[in-house]
Amino acid sequence: MIKAYAAMEPGAALVPFEYEPGPLANNEVELKVESCGICHSDLSMLDNEWGFTQYPFVGGHEVIGIVEAVGSSVNNVAVGQRVGLGWHSGYCNTCASCQAGDQNLCSSAQPTIAGHHGGFADKVRADANAVVALPEGVNPDSAGPLFCGGITVFNPLVQFGIKPTSKVGVIGIGGLGHIALQFLNAWGCEVTAFTSSESKKEEALKLGAHHVLNSSDAAQLEAAAGRFDFIISTVNVKLDWNEYLATLAPKGRLHFVGATLAPLDINVFQLIGSQREISGSPVGSPGTISQMLDFAALHNIQPVTEYFRFDQINEALTKLREGKAHYRIVLTNK
Ligand code: NAP
Ligand code: ZN
Repeated sequence: MIKAYAAMEPGAALVPFEYEPGPLANNEVELKVESCGICHSDLSMLDNEWGFTQYPFVGGHEVIGIVEAVGSSVNNVAVGQRVGLGWHSGYCNTCASCQAGDQNLCSSAQPTIAGHHGGFADKVRADANAVVALPEGVNPDSAGPLFCGGITVFNPLVQFGIKPTSKVGVIGIGGLGHIALQFLNAWGCEVTAFTSSESKKEEALKLGAHHVLNSSDAAQLEAAAGRFDFIISTVNVKLDWNEYLATLAPKGRLHFVGATLAPLDINVFQLIGSQREISGSPVGSPGTISQMLDFAALHNIQPVTEYFRFDQINEALTKLREGKAHYRIVLTNK
């Protein structure tokens, strides 16, 4: 039996929950969970904000674990190895996206926490090609958040060919945003943090921002008109996107990874006149996760984490819900 924490209905407190995972498939691995980060998406799924949560709901998709069992056809990881598991726990492996190495875009990819039980548990299962081994030089204690928060902000740098000369803004300095500042600084960019929290200003500078602006101050946004080549939004709320578009240079891009539910109300002339673009992306492929881990090891990039025991999971979720996580909460029994 796998011992997990589950919510039985939307927004409910998590309670101990055991399930029988059945026989291990040929292509699967079973991990003994060492730690698991808590992403804002776990909260949105817990609350069924996106409309596809299944209950009992076991969240947790920033897992670091030790491979305890492997199916008969698994040859990319071995028992005893330490690996990470993120948002996807399996892919179809046959579609054009999978064939092209863009498994993160596979339309039948299996989310780790929807129709599958995640890492708020003592064990979790996944397809072997959805887990990625931790390289030397990555601290396992803080690596969990790289597997969702980290890869979600690293992937766009690869996909859109961000250059060291690019001027990049990050909106929202939470779990995703604080890692984005570190990656962008190491990438060589001129980095601007947009935060609504005065208290994060000093830390944003230490994490790699060269400038900090107030994300909700129209006057500060106006003063930054035409400045950025790329802005990545990690917030889950509605901001005045037209003000942000005006801060983009010609051919600049406003890129969404934060799951803002309110529809975008865009003034099309902000796009037309300066040939600007708007886009979004999910997490990255296993190949890009692997690249990110090497980059993080080389540049000593680590999520800033605070730790709760697994049995304190409800307190941890409340802290994240209140916007007080600093900057990523990780569950561990160490
Ligand atoms: P988080 O730790 O809660 O951070 C979100 C940040 O947004 C906050 O720290 C805050 O930053 C800012 N914010 C919150 N409320 C705000 C408000 N009313 N006005 C202005 N700013 C506000 O969340 P996270 O774990 O980083 O996740 C961020 C979003 O990304 C979520 O929607 C999550 O579901 C999504 N996500 C998407 C993917 C993907 O695949 N695309 C992957 C992971 C997560 P400041 O204090 O600096 O203002
Ligand atoms: Zn996530």
